[in-house]
Amino acid sequence: MRYLYGPIKSRRLGVSLGINLTLPKTCTFDCVYCQLGKTKNLTVLRSEYIKFSEIIDELRWWIDNHKDDLAGLDYITLSGSGEPTLNTKISDLLSYLKKIPGLKVALITNASLLVQPSVRREILGADLIVPSLDTVTQELFIKVDRPYKGIKIEDVINGLIALRREFKGKIWLEVMLIKGINDDIRHIRKLKEVIERINPDKVQINSPVRTASETGVLPVTNLKLKKIQQILGDRAEII
Ligand code: SF4
Repeated sequence: MRYLYGPIKSRRLGVSLGINLTLPKTCTFDCVYCQLGKTKNLTVLRSEYIKFSEIIDELRWWIDNHKDDLAGLDYITLSGSGEPTLNTKISDLLSYLKKIPGLKVALITNASLLVQPSVRREILGADLIVPSLDTVTQELFIKVDRPYKGIKIEDVINGLIALRREFKGKIWLEVMLIKGINDDIRHIRKLKEVIERINPDKVQINSPVRTASETGVLPVTNLKLKKIQQILGDRAEII
C-alpha cells in the first residue's frame, strides 16, 4: 500500500487505518521530536500532494479485500508523513469517507493552518480532531516546532479557538513536553490559561519516548508529568 497504513492499535484511537495525505516529509513544522526525521519540504503551500483519485483507488481496494478489518476499525485516521491539512483535497476525502457506513474519521494536525477559515471549513466533516499545541510563546514555538518562517503561535492559538467554536465533534489537544525545554512550570501555567480559552474535550500530555528527529530530546519524568497533569486539570491525561 502506498498511501494507507495499518490498521494499527493505539491506546488513544483503538484500531485505526491511517491515510497519508502528503509526500514524505512535507510539513509546516520541523519539530525536534518528530519521529519521521527532518522535514524535507518545510512549506505552507497547499496542494494535492497525493492525488485524491489515487487515495480513493487504494481505499476501495483495501475495503474490498479487508471486510473483517473494516468492521473492526475504530477510526480512519488522516495523518501520515507530514501535515494533512496541506492537502487541498482533504474536504473531498472527508466527504467520501463519511459515506462509508459505520466509519469514524480522526484528523491529526499540528494546527498551523487552522487560522485560515477555509481550512477550518474543509475539516468540519471529521468526527474527532487531534491538534497539537506544544508551546504558547513564540520563542519556545521556534525552539520546539521550528515552524515555517512567519507562522505565529498566536495565530495557531486563535485558529484552535475558532475551530472549537465551529466544529461540533470532539477535540483532543495533544501537548508534547520535552525535558528542560517546554516543561517549565511557569510555561505550563501559561499553557493552562490558553487551554482554557481553547476548551478542548481532552488534553493529552505526551513526551518523546521513541527516536526523535534531534539528539538531546529527552522525555519528562513520570513524576513531573503527573504534576503537570494536576496543573492542567481534570480533562488532562498522560498518554
Ligand atoms: S508537525 Fe508532526 S509531522 Fe510535522 S514535524 Fe511536527 S511531529 Fe513531524
